[in-house]
Amino acid sequence: ITATQLAESYLNRLRALEPHLNSFLHVSESVLSDAREIDGKIQRNEEVGPLAGVFVGVKDNICTAGMPSTGGSRILEGYRPPFDATAVKRIKELGGIVIGKTNLDEFGMGSSTEGSAFQVTANPWDLSRVPGGSSGGSASAVSARQCVVSLGSDTGGSVRQPASFCGVVGLKPTYGRVSRFGLMAYASSLDVIGCLSTTVADAGILLHAISGHDTHDATSSKREVPDFASQFGAVDSLESKPLKGLRIGLIRETLENGVDGEVNSAIRAAASHLEELGCSINEVSLPSFSLGLPAYYILASSEASSNLARYDGVRYGNQAVADELTGLYENSRATGFGSEVKMRILMGTYALSAGYYDAYYKRAQQVRTLIQKSFREALDENDILISPAAPSAAYKIGEKVNDPLAMYAGDIMTVNVNLAGLPALVLPCGFVRDGSSNLPVGLQMIGAAFDEGKLLKVGHIFE
Ligand code: GLN
Repeated sequence: ITATQLAESYLNRLRALEPHLNSFLHVSESVLSDAREIDGKIQRNEEVGPLAGVFVGVKDNICTAGMPSTGGSRILEGYRPPFDATAVKRIKELGGIVIGKTNLDEFGMGSSTEGSAFQVTANPWDLSRVPGGSSGGSASAVSARQCVVSLGSDTGGSVRQPASFCGVVGLKPTYGRVSRFGLMAYASSLDVIGCLSTTVADAGILLHAISGHDTHDATSSKREVPDFASQFGAVDSLESKPLKGLRIGLIRETLENGVDGEVNSAIRAAASHLEELGCSINEVSLPSFSLGLPAYYILASSEASSNLARYDGVRYGNQAVADELTGLYENSRATGFGSEVKMRILMGTYALSAGYYDAYYKRAQQVRTLIQKSFREALDENDILISPAAPSAAYKIGEKVNDPLAMYAGDIMTVNVNLAGLPALVLPCGFVRDGSSNLPVGLQMIGAAFDEGKLLKVGHIFE
């Protein structure tokens, strides 16, 4: 099969499913010509990269040269960046083809993708339900095989929770593993680009492609990037206890009240399966776990209030009409930002203001330190920690849209991991049955910093 034939088949499938799913905000016009270029190289016996002919969906808050990149916001409507994000550049250099830009909650602020300024994405498992968020388009596109793999971003769970809701693999790398250059900043101390795929091996291949130091991002790590995918070959599939000696910590606080009963059972069944594979399972407690949610929303909103100051109607995208400069800023921001983004900017500005800084921002930073410490201790005693990726399976479109606190509460399983900067892998581990629907449940595995290799290896065996 040629890359061009593959491109045709993916484009056909993508277009046929789009009216039901709305995963994409934009489909690339150059997919066929990109594929022909690869076929040409193959015919001429020229080198093609390891991602040759792999069709990649890219979350629309990640910049793609010459292609619309809106961040799901009206304020960037019509913006076409002149450059590729480093992660996208690396994918292209290895032969990968960007098939289109996927839908998201505006600037990544949300958990259901209903917060996009443009469209609501459906969950391929049940079209009346949300795909999760904010990388909901990236997750639904992979789940429905509209693309092979996709990039998302994860500030507080936006790769992992949609992966869980859509029954695909989601990988949040260690903070700093992947360059943030070209990712529209939401909360810079938490943001990381991550991978969505149908298999753990694919997540490893994609992570390897996008990882590594970048002079354009001072927070990107200089650590060596292991060839994650080659580690899978080392697994002896005939071994009866391939994970013998591995210590798994089941986080107690993630299986207490507020968690759906069937989600709880699916995670406990996954723990038993890991035990059969040779792991030892220990219950661990992270006492500051429940403080993660309020600390996260204060820190993320504070950083967002500063990062989003750049959208002033002058530099990018949507410019409102006004007869003087302050009016231009005000009108562009008033008409360009959606209500959730405005609320976050207000909350963040409030938390950072002189009178409230000590009470909110500073305390949230202290909680962050506590959380980092408790993870460090738990990971001294265990190789990997496990929990659900979300307290429930996918809910109905519209169900939480008018209740921001209920929506925020759904992030309880994921935000702590961002506060600690750790890597985490989510993979499907069972179903919740609701009437005629089977709704996927995701298992979250959390590792020590820069230990993605271990997560991928265990995930691959477990899969
Ligand atoms: N749902 C969380 C929020 O709204 C996380 C979003 C994300 O990871 N981008 O902030």
